[in-house]
Amino acid sequence: MYVVKFEDLNKSDIGIAGGKGANLGELTQAGIPVPPGFVVTAETYEKFMEDSGINGQVMDILDKIDINDTKELQAAAEEIKSLIIATPIPDDMTTLIIEAYNQLCQRVDEDDTDVAIRSSATAEDLPEASFAGQQDTFLHVSGNDEVMEYIRKCWASLFEARAIFYREENNFEHSKVYIAVVVQKMANADKAGVMFTVNPSTGEEIALIEGSWGLGESVVSGDVTPDNYQVDKKNNEIVNVTISDKKVMYTNDEDGTSVKVEVPENMRKERVLSDEELIELTEMGKRVQAHYGEPMDTEWAFEKGNLFLLQARPITTLGDDVEVADDESSDLGEVIVRGLGASPGMASGKVKIVLDIDELDKIKDGDIMVTTMTTPDMVPAMRRASGIVTDEGGVTCHASIISRELGIPCVVGTGDATGTLKENSGVTLDGKKGLVFEGISETKEEATQATANVEAAPIITVTEVKANVSMPEAAEKAAATGADGVGLLRTEHLMLTSGVHPGKFISDGREDELIDTIADKVQIVADAFYPKPVWYRTLDAPTDEFITLEGGENEPEEHNPMLGWRGIRRELDQPEILKCEFKAIQKLHEKGYTNIGIMIPLSQNPEELKQAKAICSSIGFEPHKDVDFGMMVEIPAAAIMIDEYIKVGIDFVSLGTNDLTQYTLAVDRNNEFVAKHYSEEHPAVMKLIERTIRKCAEAGVTCSICGQAGSVPHIVEKLVAFGITSVSSNTDAIADVRKTVARAEQKIILDAARKRLE
Ligand code: PEP
Ligand code: MG
Repeated sequence: MYVVKFEDLNKSDIGIAGGKGANLGELTQAGIPVPPGFVVTAETYEKFMEDSGINGQVMDILDKIDINDTKELQAAAEEIKSLIIATPIPDDMTTLIIEAYNQLCQRVDEDDTDVAIRSSATAEDLPEASFAGQQDTFLHVSGNDEVMEYIRKCWASLFEARAIFYREENNFEHSKVYIAVVVQKMANADKAGVMFTVNPSTGEEIALIEGSWGLGESVVSGDVTPDNYQVDKKNNEIVNVTISDKKVMYTNDEDGTSVKVEVPENMRKERVLSDEELIELTEMGKRVQAHYGEPMDTEWAFEKGNLFLLQARPITTLGDDVEVADDESSDLGEVIVRGLGASPGMASGKVKIVLDIDELDKIKDGDIMVTTMTTPDMVPAMRRASGIVTDEGGVTCHASIISRELGIPCVVGTGDATGTLKENSGVTLDGKKGLVFEGISETKEEATQATANVEAAPIITVTEVKANVSMPEAAEKAAATGADGVGLLRTEHLMLTSGVHPGKFISDGREDELIDTIADKVQIVADAFYPKPVWYRTLDAPTDEFITLEGGENEPEEHNPMLGWRGIRRELDQPEILKCEFKAIQKLHEKGYTNIGIMIPLSQNPEELKQAKAICSSIGFEPHKDVDFGMMVEIPAAAIMIDEYIKVGIDFVSLGTNDLTQYTLAVDRNNEFVAKHYSEEHPAVMKLIERTIRKCAEAGVTCSICGQAGSVPHIVEKLVAFGITSVSSNTDAIADVRKTVARAEQKIILDAARKRLE
């Protein structure tokens, strides 16, 4: 069968329709209203590849490449994609697909109706395998020609470089992975929001509903404080209605793209959902919960009075929080090396000392990598290691950031681990306390697993709790925490793992390739979090880190790279790279990823903000209008001059306390000899933070934090009291931070209530 309607699919049809398609079918069959659509089956793709004869050609290309050679991989991906795009789709397939689309148009009574076209990949022997975020999604597609064009693009996206790499890394045979394509009417909501079918904090049988005007993006992304309703599911009694001031909404403009606009004055404080609508929603919640047999987290929309469900997933975390024992390392052997705890968890394994990049091969699965300091080329080997120990560095160095993201325990700044630890000896490391013990611990498996628990905590906070992401592969794990978006996407790590210096793309005249490289990687993150906001930080490229890349030979040797040519000052000297970055984000916006904002790093003068915005405008991508544009506060000068920056115009600010601390205290953050003098809680640093938050609050500018201090619960508690609007943490810290934020918010409410009683 080439084409199957949602009505004819259910959750066991993953092999035919992929996970996404099968789940939409399941909801449809259960009688839950979802926007109608159909799936172009995995078999259609298979037949297209076989009958046209290109399957053999594609497999031959794939057989020949070394996937670790980025250039070769990318060239092969381009060749295969072009081949698929240039191969005509047989007439009988085209006819059936167009017929299904036309039937959909008839059904919704609209010519050339707008549809979303989504990839839904599936593996022959392992239909449950997850390929989420590997392939493309296209929004607002309309008309026969466009529909066919984008279906073919979805098929081609099975051969994006990242998808090929992912399959090879995870031992999936290319020839046994197929792609189904979901074609679904775009929802055009008048009002939308989310519903938990039980109270997610207590498990009580109360439907908790949040709603606001326009498309659901405003609620999911946290752009508005939505109305909040609670309905007792036993008797449909509405037990709570809180109406808020809803300032913005998303609507579709004439050409169908979603845009953020102000809510008309008379609707801002108007109640969104009537009693009848609340009961209709609650009843639907009951049906979904009964159908799946468990409490569900759903997204809903009303369009012209009709209720639709856009998504439903189980609330997985009710009451199953795993705590990491605090003294997990108390009964281990002798401590042989001490350093800073950089990534929590316990790990045991054989020591492998890496003093040169040529020695990376000796790291086998489960070994402990011991090195002076990690570099970007070590990331593949870091992935194989069960733990990492470095001589140098602080808790915000390369080894720390990457190991936290990979979920690998890590101890940094040990001074001389490469000299003290013996090759091939067994050790156990405690990445929380920063200790390395002699011998292998029996209990490390359990402890590591507990630490790896990144399930979403069932707590709702007004202050958003977001995630820091550096590597696209880590995005899905970060999104699984239920984080409210990405408060920092570190581009330099994306670039570093691509292996090629961005300047080399420019000097070779390969700007388009640079744009695609950035866009492809950022899209994975934007997809995992869509439609929650993702703040893309433009390149902050320190010369000493970029020197190891292909084409990095020309990096100047600086006396102190931390104070040197990096951040926005470097980008303004090399505007071609900055332009490519802006073009990559613009391209993703055009593909529907309007959830991506831009943030500039390491600014010391409002003039830099002005210039960066002018470069963005020069490519026809208007800051504030087309894209949210913000900045990091990482230099005391920026914190002190925040008023001047606000005058130039910013949508948001994020406190980069890693750099703010080093520049305020004159302590190199990567230098273990002065690590004891490095503290974000130094009164001078805290004063700059408080001032920035206060000034932003006065001006109505969103203020967040993405430095390491945002992952430290007792500091976060203070920031909430100062009035911070969001906190961006490392994935492993999100659950704890969310609890701290909730407690701090409740304390503020309680204190205010007590004061009123006095
Ligand atoms: C910071 O400086 O706090 C920050 C988040 O940026 P980075 O750690 O990437 O310098
Ligand atoms: Mg920084």
